[in-house]
Amino acid sequence: MPVYAPDSVTFPSAAPHGFLIDMDGVIYRGSELIPGADRFIGDLLDLDLPFLFLTNNSQRNRRDVVTKLHRLGIEVSESHIFTCAMATARFLAAQKPGGTAYVIGEGGLLHALHENGYSIVDHDPDYVVVGEGRTVNYEMVEAAIRMVMDGAKLIATNLDPHCPTQHGLRPGCGAIVAMLETATGRQAFSVGKPSAVMMRAARKEIGLDASRTSMIGDTMATDILGAVQLGYRAILVLSGGTRREDLTAYAYRPDMVVDSIADLSAADLAGIATAGNAAATVSTRPRGS
Ligand SMILES: [Mg+2]
Repeated sequence: MPVYAPDSVTFPSAAPHGFLIDMDGVIYRGSELIPGADRFIGDLLDLDLPFLFLTNNSQRNRRDVVTKLHRLGIEVSESHIFTCAMATARFLAAQKPGGTAYVIGEGGLLHALHENGYSIVDHDPDYVVVGEGRTVNYEMVEAAIRMVMDGAKLIATNLDPHCPTQHGLRPGCGAIVAMLETATGRQAFSVGKPSAVMMRAARKEIGLDASRTSMIGDTMATDILGAVQLGYRAILVLSGGTRREDLTAYAYRPDMVVDSIADLSAADLAGIATAGNAAATVSTRPRGS
């Protein structure tokens, strides 16, 4: 019986366990570090475990995010950052190389599109791309609606309905997209969490197997749903927008629930202490008990 086993293919016996980590509500709230987040990330760096920060905020580019994290005492590099703006731009570049986009969004999205060979135009685009931001005005919405009716495809970086701020909520990308969808009768394609496009691209970016990937997030509808759909270990932290009693409203559940990232052990989760048997050693450790 023929066996396909070329010499160039190797099968590592101990593939690394790695982490996809949401930021807002997990690492910081607004401009404040969540206590213990710096220790957890420091442990990942010390243990040389692969990880990637995964954000549905398309406003900032990688360098902006790194600067924000540095100011909070988290010393990571640009290679640790993966935004939905990057995921969207790479997706469009793969679908239609060298295309054109009309953008409702900010610097992070514009930068990512340019980096991936896209031109930003104000008429007759291939795509209308909508991201987070506060620069949208009625004229832009009107222009975008006409373009979609003329055949441009409607793309959303994400569909989060709102964004947390120090002063409460403001409308998110999903709210702007809903206005365009209602006016045009067309449905947007969304690339950010929980879309498999972004969830899978992030895992592959740092070379992880699905079965050895943990997603840490604070939002059921994005972080946890995406992880459940992709077969990653889903870890919900209650330091952001979700309370423990909210879980009953969802048909899917995270694998672990902890009060904060401070309650997690990177070594335990990666199975390092017990020779790869992570599932048997993981336990939730309620804060203060
Ligand atoms: Mg979050």
